[in-house]
This record gives sequence, C-alpha cells and structure tokens, in this order.
Amino acid sequence: MRPARARPKAGAPDLAGGIAMALTGRAAVLDKPFGTFTVEEAVVPEVDPGGIIIRQEMTGVCGTDAHLYEGRLFYLKYPIVMGHEVVGTIERLGPKVKTDSSGRPVKEGDRVYIIPGTRCGGTCYYCSVLLQPNLCLGAGGFGFRPYPDQPIHFQGGFADYQWLKEGTGFLKVETDAQTICALEPLAIATHVVTQYHFRPGETVAVQGAGAIGQLVCMVAKATGATKVIVIGAPESRLELAKRMGADVAINIEDAQTPAERVALVQKETEGSFGADVVIECTGVPAATVEGIDMLRRGGTYLVAGHFTDSGNVEINPFAHITRKNITLRGIWSSERTHFVRARSLVESGKYPMRDVISHVLPLERLGDAIEAMRGRYRLDGEEIRKIGIASAL
Ligand SMILES: [Zn+2]
Ligand SMILES: [Zn+2]
Repeated sequence: MRPARARPKAGAPDLAGGIAMALTGRAAVLDKPFGTFTVEEAVVPEVDPGGIIIRQEMTGVCGTDAHLYEGRLFYLKYPIVMGHEVVGTIERLGPKVKTDSSGRPVKEGDRVYIIPGTRCGGTCYYCSVLLQPNLCLGAGGFGFRPYPDQPIHFQGGFADYQWLKEGTGFLKVETDAQTICALEPLAIATHVVTQYHFRPGETVAVQGAGAIGQLVCMVAKATGATKVIVIGAPESRLELAKRMGADVAINIEDAQTPAERVALVQKETEGSFGADVVIECTGVPAATVEGIDMLRRGGTYLVAGHFTDSGNVEINPFAHITRKNITLRGIWSSERTHFVRARSLVESGKYPMRDVISHVLPLERLGDAIEAMRGRYRLDGEEIRKIGIASAL
C-alpha cells in the first residue's frame, strides 16, 4: 500500500484567499471496447448546487463492467469511466443539499452510496403515467456516462472522486465501506425477489452463485422462502451463499449436466415436483431452459442475470410455457425503494456482506480485475468472488 497522497481538504481556502481550491483527481479511462484502461489526472468540476462530490472509498467491479468492456451495451459511448457500485464520503456538498434521497440529514464527511440509475425527472410516459420509473425513457446510469454535457472523468466509480448532478440519488450509510460496497447488486436482488410473494413451505432454486445469486439467496431467505437451493461454482461462492441463507448448494463442477442438476433440485422439493420459483442469476442463455425444467408446473421463473445481450436460446412454447403453466418474468434495473430496503438489510448487521468482496485492488489494477471477471475468476493465482477497487490504495 502506498501512503495516501495529499489532497486539498474540502472547503479549504487557497492562497488567493477565501475561495475553495479546485479538486484534481485520477480516473481509470477505458478508450474503446476491448481497449485499454489509462489512469488520467483531471480537474473535478465545481460542485453542482443541488449535487455532491464524493471522495471514493470503494467501487465494486461487476459482471456488467466486464460486459461494457466488451462493448455489449449497444447504446453506450466511449471513452468511459465505469463503476456503478460506489461508496465514499461527501467531499463537497452543494448548497441546496440538506438530506440524502431517503430524508436522512447529510453533511460533508458523511459516508454515502450512489443510487446509479438516473431518470427523466418524472415527465416521461413510464414515469408519469405508468408509474414504472425503472422503464424511464430518459434513463441513464452513473458509471454509464450519465451526463453528456460534463467531462467524462468523474461520472463513474473507478476514480478518486465522483461528481453527482442534482437529481442523482445517494444514500447515507451507517457501516464501513466494504460492508456496504455491494448495495447496488443487493438492491437488484431485492427488486427481483420482491416480484414473488412467498407462501410458507415454498422452495426457491437460485441459478448462479455470483454476487447477484448470493444476494438473491439472502433476500429470499429474509423474505420468507422456506428452502433455498443455490446452483453454481466455485466452492467459495457456494459457501458464502450458504452463509447468506442457502440451505442446499449444488456444485456445477460436480453435477456437470443439466439433467443431473434438474434431478438434484427436484429431489429437494415437495413430492419431487420441482421448485415453486426459480431465479436465474447466471447471465448464461442456456441456463434459461434448465431453470424452467427445475420448476414445478404452475411455478414462477424470474430472469435476473441478463443486463446485457448474451445471445439466444431455443425454447419450446408448449412444453416450457403453456403446458407447464408457468409465470415468466424479467426484471430490469431497480428503484430507490429497493436501495432503501437493501440498506436496512445491510445495516441490520445480520448478514456477511463484508465477505461479498474477496479482493481489494488499487485503481491501476482495474484492467486485471476486468480480466479476472471475464476469465475463470482467478487473480494472482487465487479464486475471487468480487473485487473492490479502492482509489486510496
Ligand atoms: Zn453491478
Ligand atoms: Zn422517465
């Protein structure tokens, strides 16, 4: 670890007297899909009167970041500074800002978490008529170049500072930075799981033991699932999923065929008919058919693992949907309500949230982190779960 670099203190008068010094900081810029990350120094814009500037403490590296590296979100513009799972402290507070997005009072120095989804401001058809803001026609995201009129460097979490425009949400948090770092995937998990209303005695199968899968296990248990089965690999991820609430873990390195895995899930369910609900958290198209096969007739299939385009899969509408009488549901993004509920779960201290992050790396190693996510989840010879980037390292 290098010693922390000297940075101007918030609001410190400069030598000319009275006016706050301009902040400068570093950002890891990706030039193009499959390109290179370069750490660039830049001046942070003045704080927006209705916004804040955050000094980054940790940003989670997400599977979606690996997909953005591969250019899989067709409407995204490059160069870009990615990173949408961001926790840090308030470095500069805009004069109009008194509270976070849930009404908690805030001051400079408070630890906050960014709610990355940006919306139109309540005027589009989905926001104003249908009341479905996650489908907002003007939606953008922090870490996805949300502000076209601003320089790119501080619009993502893989940087020393984050510049938030008025209207971008953030929550004050009462935990250490690493424990709250996975709040964004936990909010997704909360959105996903709350689409289903568990009745006593029900079984859920969770496909995938990555961060979303682990957190879906946690929220499913917290929300009333009686038995949670997780299907995934490697072992350390399954172990954490169990500590999060999974009752049964099926390792896909042992059960290597879909037929074996379907049989193992069925064996764990009432009458061996199959799970009441199956939640897809893999991002692998082929898992969809396998997941539907794990359901009992009349069950519910929730697809949560596809935030970018990973390709097609063949299904038989008669066998997989109609005769099986299933409910099939996609879940896009998440809303403030899911973030606030997720924050309550983390602040309860009941769950091993800190262990979701297995490795913490400096900004300069973002490229290595992305490579590990795209490959076999190994870094420096070690198995990884989720990597956090801490710019102070
Ligand atoms: Zn994410
Ligand atoms: Zn809208």
